[in-house]
Amino acid sequence: MTSKFVGSNSKILEKANLLKSNNLYPFFRAIEASEGSVITFDNKDQIMIGSNNYLGLTHHPHVVEASIKAIEKYGTGCTGSRFLNGNLSIHEELEEKLANYLGHEAALCFSTGMQTNLGALSAICGPRDCMIFDSENHASLIDASRLALGATFKYKHNDMESLEEQLAANVNRFKNVVIVADGVFSMTGKILKLDKVIELADKYGAIVYVDDAHGIGVMGEKGRGTMNHFGVTEKVDFNMGTFSKSFASIGGVLSGTKESIDYVKHTARSFMFSASMPPSAVATVGACVDVIMSDDTIHPRLWKNVEFIRNGFKEIGFYTYESETPIIPVFIGDDLKAMQVTKFLGDMGVFATPVLAPAVPQGEALIRTSYMASHSIEELTKVLEVFKMAKKEFDIPGIHH
Ligand code: PMP
Repeated sequence: MTSKFVGSNSKILEKANLLKSNNLYPFFRAIEASEGSVITFDNKDQIMIGSNNYLGLTHHPHVVEASIKAIEKYGTGCTGSRFLNGNLSIHEELEEKLANYLGHEAALCFSTGMQTNLGALSAICGPRDCMIFDSENHASLIDASRLALGATFKYKHNDMESLEEQLAANVNRFKNVVIVADGVFSMTGKILKLDKVIELADKYGAIVYVDDAHGIGVMGEKGRGTMNHFGVTEKVDFNMGTFSKSFASIGGVLSGTKESIDYVKHTARSFMFSASMPPSAVATVGACVDVIMSDDTIHPRLWKNVEFIRNGFKEIGFYTYESETPIIPVFIGDDLKAMQVTKFLGDMGVFATPVLAPAVPQGEALIRTSYMASHSIEELTKVLEVFKMAKKEFDIPGIHH
């Protein structure tokens, strides 16, 4: 059947089909089984280095058991929004647990991280307010800024002079001026200069909103996030986190003062008009917090793995963007080469994902690798061996031009 609909960006499918016909299409690979750090794809075991399962908790026995028990007690879905019929006592217990864990007065759980940003920012940034926005913010923040009625002004990535210029230019023109930035940048693994952001926010009376999707569970003491890492928890007005990474589940959280969270709870449309997190997801997150609090080996294992692999890449001569977190991007350069390398890695038993233009500037394609507390040193040694072979085979430059 021919389609009446033709999308305005028709080139995108042409490109995808060309890659598929050359067996180089690196997206939507259907994973057949998963044990966390090892997955099965194409009937072959591969070491997973493309996941955000930083703490490796997706298969932790206590977490799995809690998830199953929640299904048995509450069923598989809530079939309604928190606002109406979909609010369970475990949603509220989880919010209290997360507020205590993060060190904020109150927390609110959304059904995904994306919905958290869309709903929270469009609630916070009304027509008389504005956002001051890091130029490398995540797509969900970009979409949130399109949805919000207030204006958005960008500052140069992690550049505090540029941020100050934007603050000085806008602080007297708007009611609330909201600085919005990723805590850990999702492509480069770089950390936001949050201590400096807070200084400027204090100076100009701005509100601070941190998307800590990749920092929560990872950064700071017991993974309490980037704000804890810098010791500025009380100064962050809104901290956003996802459960789709360290917390082995799906959902998102916004934390802050009781009053501000209550305001978002009664105004964020993606919260009020979308079904609530399913019981199994809620129980999973609660169990992850318990495991983090009781197991003192997780974070040392994670950081040991990160240091091992980062040093390994440097020794082989890859450029890894001076990442400071478990996200370690490996510079490749050309888009086609990045897809060829991805295919090569897969054939050699390593599952990784490329990041191509326009997600990164043209000619700066990379392979975004990320590591888990549950990877073994043997697995990481194999990853490095395979990358070493790839470097030779594809002549990958060790510097970023
Ligand atoms: N913010 C950032 C920085 C992210 O990387 C992501 C997901 N990749 C999100 C928000 C959205 O989170 P979720 O997957 O839970 O919708």
